[in-house]
Amino acid sequence: MRFLRVMGFLLLAAAVCFGQSPDSLTNSQMPSVITIPPEAQPSPNFNADAATEAYLAQIPATARARSDAYFEGGYWLILWDFLYGAVIAMVILHLRWSAKMRDLAERITRLRFVHDIIYWIEFTLLTTILGFPLAYYEGYVREHQYGLATQSFGPWCGDQFKNLLVNIVLGAIAVPILFAIVRRLQRTWWIWGAIVYCVFFAVTAMLAPVFIFPIFNKITKLDDPKVTTPILSMARANGIPAREVYEIDASRQTTRMSANVSGLGKTMRITLNDNLLRRGSLEEIQSIMGHEMGHYVLNHTYKGTFFFSVMFVIFFALLNWSLRWSLTRWGDRWLVRDIGDSAVVPLVVLLGSIFFFVLTPITNTYTRTEEHEADMYGLNASRQPDGFAQGAIHLGEYRKMSPGPLEEWFFFDHPSGRNRIHDAMTWKAENLKLFEEPPTSGNSDK
Ligand SMILES: [Zn+2]
Repeated sequence: MRFLRVMGFLLLAAAVCFGQSPDSLTNSQMPSVITIPPEAQPSPNFNADAATEAYLAQIPATARARSDAYFEGGYWLILWDFLYGAVIAMVILHLRWSAKMRDLAERITRLRFVHDIIYWIEFTLLTTILGFPLAYYEGYVREHQYGLATQSFGPWCGDQFKNLLVNIVLGAIAVPILFAIVRRLQRTWWIWGAIVYCVFFAVTAMLAPVFIFPIFNKITKLDDPKVTTPILSMARANGIPAREVYEIDASRQTTRMSANVSGLGKTMRITLNDNLLRRGSLEEIQSIMGHEMGHYVLNHTYKGTFFFSVMFVIFFALLNWSLRWSLTRWGDRWLVRDIGDSAVVPLVVLLGSIFFFVLTPITNTYTRTEEHEADMYGLNASRQPDGFAQGAIHLGEYRKMSPGPLEEWFFFDHPSGRNRIHDAMTWKAENLKLFEEPPTSGNSDK
């Protein structure tokens, strides 16, 4: 009961901390059309710092306040997500719900791998129900408060339900395999388990664009030569075998502008979201596509898979030790028999959340470094520093533009908007000759 009270307190505190509605700030999006300020026009005394400040000065104060509040609230949510999840895991263990779910699975069938699947379904349903208040606040209420969400409650719940089904299916494949390894290879399971987990992770990443993303959104081939011709030309110039550009109807869920490279090998594809197509200038779209191509050419998907594989080997090694340590102390009280017992899952989730919570700045720094590499590649490939500056401002609708250096190191998984504009203006300063010709029609952002 004490745990439930703690959970109630967390909820209340979350409502107090994040509940103030920034009503005065709604409808203060970044300007859709961002012009090149005089300080960023090519001239003999072009100065990257002054050009950066001039771009930032175009952001209305209300839009900046809203984006800062939204992003800083996200820092607290990292903590609340961690604590709330930890409390749920402790409740499930302490009240022996985990042991009861295992017992139920064992009564239904004698097949061991089916136990694991049934347990996984029970566990996923229970944690989804217990986690709903925070998920609802974070994914629905808060997104609406800040004008970033486009879904009404019904369709949002529909997406949550689909997400639940995807989790159940993926877990029903991975969990029995991992437990079979744990039971058969008591001493070395953590090495083999980590390898199998990483292979599973890579295969899922490979298949997701084809099998998982279309469950939530419609993905179509983009058929607008005005947009695709320069993108595909840039792809050819950079040795990228893409013949198509895809469009995703992200506006179903959000007003965020974004693009991504997804998949591995043959399922690799470049996708633009419809918000970017609708609001971004052609120069901006090209600069963002250059960035996405950078991820591809610099093999970020493979490097990222390797990085997270190393993390998972370390995690599984620590998990092996900490599971045994915890079960020696509390296994009897929780009625969890050993590490091969499916009732151990909440403890695995708890230890995993501690591990990745502590490593947040490291995983953020890893991705931010790759994002910075892709930024520089994109500037070289697209030669659109002003388009890139416009994109950085648009992305600033949900990311703080000017954080402190430590704040950026800790919380940012992409370079901050200010640094991205500064990179673009530094690039422009070194390539002024490209811009000295009088702009031809269609090449400016009026
Ligand atoms: Zn990126």
